[in-house]
Parts: sequence; structure tokens; C-alpha cells
Amino acid sequence: MINVTCPVCGRKMQGQTIDEWPQFPMCSPRCRLIDLGRWLGGNYRIPSESEGEADETTDNMETP
Ligand SMILES: [Zn+2]
Repeated sequence: MINVTCPVCGRKMQGQTIDEWPQFPMCSPRCRLIDLGRWLGGNYRIPSESEGEADETTDNMETP
């Protein structure tokens, strides 16, 4: 018996053998695709909303 937690959605799963588990260690082909997309990059993007609070930078623009 194999006990695995899906790294994508966090669902706990149980299986008999890995050979009969094509999506291992994901719970479903969908989670497998999501994980693949993370490996390919593009998941670590800085939220642009934090740049909206850039009021302090305006203080440096007092020079005429
Ligand atoms: Zn999953």
C-alpha cells in the first residue's frame, strides 16, 4: 500500500503499486499537468499590486 499526498492539490491518496499509477505522485492527470506547468516556469511572478503602494518613491521626486 502506498500513501501519497498530491503535491499539487494536497489530496491524500492510496494505491497498491506505482505501476498501476500513471499519474504518480499526482492524484489525477489534471494535477500532473499543473505540476508540469510549474516546472516549465512562469509560476513565480511577483504580484504587481504591491507596486501600487509606491508612495514613498514620490518623495524622491521633489527636485524640480
Ligand atoms: Zn491533486
